[in-house]
Amino acid sequence: MNFIETRGNDGSRPVSVSFSQAILNPMSSFGGIYAPEVIPRFGETFLKESLDKDYKALARDILDIFQVDIPGELVEAALATYDRFDDPANPVPVVKIGDRLHVSELYHGPTRAFKDMALQPFGVILSGLAQARDEHYLIMAATSGDTGPAALDTFRNKPNIKVACLYPDGGTSDVQRLQMVTEDADNLKVIGIHGNFDDAQAALKRLLGSDLFRATLVEKHTQLSAANSVNFGRIIFQLIYHVHSYLELVRQGHIQLGDKVYMVVPSGNFGNALGGYYAWQMGLPVEKIVIASNANNVLTDLINTGAYDLRDRQLIGTSSPAMDILKSSNVERVLFHLFGAARTRELMRQLDEEKYYQLNEEERQAMQALFCADFCTDEEGKAYIKEYFEQGYLMDPHTATCMKAHASCCDQPLHAIVYSTAEWTKFSPSIANALTGEVDAHDLDALKTIARLAGTEVPERIKQLFSKPIAQKTLVNKEDIEKEVLAFL
Ligand SMILES: *Cc1c(COP(=O)(O)O)cnc(C)c1O
Repeated sequence: MNFIETRGNDGSRPVSVSFSQAILNPMSSFGGIYAPEVIPRFGETFLKESLDKDYKALARDILDIFQVDIPGELVEAALATYDRFDDPANPVPVVKIGDRLHVSELYHGPTRAFKDMALQPFGVILSGLAQARDEHYLIMAATSGDTGPAALDTFRNKPNIKVACLYPDGGTSDVQRLQMVTEDADNLKVIGIHGNFDDAQAALKRLLGSDLFRATLVEKHTQLSAANSVNFGRIIFQLIYHVHSYLELVRQGHIQLGDKVYMVVPSGNFGNALGGYYAWQMGLPVEKIVIASNANNVLTDLINTGAYDLRDRQLIGTSSPAMDILKSSNVERVLFHLFGAARTRELMRQLDEEKYYQLNEEERQAMQALFCADFCTDEEGKAYIKEYFEQGYLMDPHTATCMKAHASCCDQPLHAIVYSTAEWTKFSPSIANALTGEVDAHDLDALKTIARLAGTEVPERIKQLFSKPIAQKTLVNKEDIEKEVLAFL
C-alpha cells in the first residue's frame, strides 16, 4: 500500500511513497501530509475472527492490511512496548459507566496519557528504520504537556535518534513538567521557555526555518523528522484501539457484531478522531464520530456550519490544555479522502492566507454524514467530572468534554464509546477543584485530595516524580532556543 500527498504533487518529490518513507519524511508537496492512496477494507470475516485475538494480534493484522514495509521483527519489537502498559494482555480496558455508555481508557501506558498508544510503538519503529539505514534523526517537539513526556519516554536511549522538546514554563501541570525534566538520557534535551504554548510552537517554526540550524544538521549528518500526529506512523496505531474497543463491547455482551456504535472523541489535532474515521471506512460499524471540543470550538463550527474560521479567534487557555488547538492538522486528511487533493490544496491555501474557508453545501453534508460535534466549557466540564465521580467514575477534564457532546449528538438508541485520553493524575488541580470547589496550591496537594475522596492512593510512579532529581534545567527566553539546540547537537 502506498501513500500519496493530501495537496497533490509538486513534481519535486515522488508521486507516492511507502509507509516507511512517509514515516521518515512526513512532510509532502505544498505543505501537505501523507495519506493512504486508498483506505483498505477489512475482509468479510475479519471482525468475527478478531474476537478471540488479543490486542497485539489485532494490531499485527491491521498493519498487515496496510501492507506496511516494516520487517517482522521490528513490528514485534514495536508491539512489545504494550507490555509496559498496566495489563499487557489488554492495554486498553473498556468499562461501562452508564446506560449504553462505555469508556475506552487509552491512558494505561508509561506516561498516563493516550499519546503512549501510538508513540510507544512508533519510537521503536522510527529508531529501527534509522539504524537499518544508518541515518540519524532529530525529533523536535513543542508540547503543551502530553506529547513531550510520551516522546521523551519512547525515545529514551534509542539509537540514532535525538529529541529536543520545548515546553512553556508554567504552562503545564507539575506532573507533566516533572515527567519531562527528570528525564536524564543523553539523547534527550528538554527546554523550558518563558512564554506560552503558542510561543513554544512559533519558536520551533522559526528554528526549523533557520539557515544556521539547517547547516548544523547537515554537518552532523542528521535529518529532521516529526513525531506529532501529522506522521502517519502514529495514526496507524490510533486506529487499532477503535477496532479493539468495538470488539470489547461485543465480547462483554453489550452489542452484537454488526451493531453500530457512536465514537465520542475529545479532539485537538484530530489524530484520535481520524483513527476512528479510518477504522469506520475499513468496515467497523459506526453510526457517527462525535467530536468533542473545549471552548476552542473551531471543529464544532466546522462540522455544524462548514466554516473553518480563525479570523477573530484567539486561543483560549482551558482546563483541557491538550485540546487548546486552533489549527487542527488531521482534518486535512478527511478533506483529502472526501474531496480530493485539488480541493484540499485550495481549502488549506485559503486557511493559510485568509485564515478562513467555507465548505459548500454538498461538502458540509458529507462531513455531517460522518461527524457530529459539540463543545464544552470548563464550568460544564467540572460539573460532569463531579457528577460522574459521585456515580463512581473518575475522569479527567479532556474526557469530561465528551459528556456534553454525547448528550447532544447521540440521539439514536445505540451504544457509545467515549475515549478517555488521560489519567486523573495528570490534571489533578482541575479535577480536585471540580470535586471540592477549592484550589490546591500544588499538584501534590491536589493529588492527595483526589486520592482521599476516591478512597485510593496516589500511584507510586507519580509520587516518585516529586523526589526525582531534576536532570533538565534549561530555561530560556525564546531568542535563545536555537543556541541551546545547537549546543545539544
Ligand atoms: C493529545 C490529547 C488530546 C487530543 O487528541 P488529538 O488526537 O490531537 O485530537 C486529547 N486529550 C489528551 C489528554 C491529549 O493528550
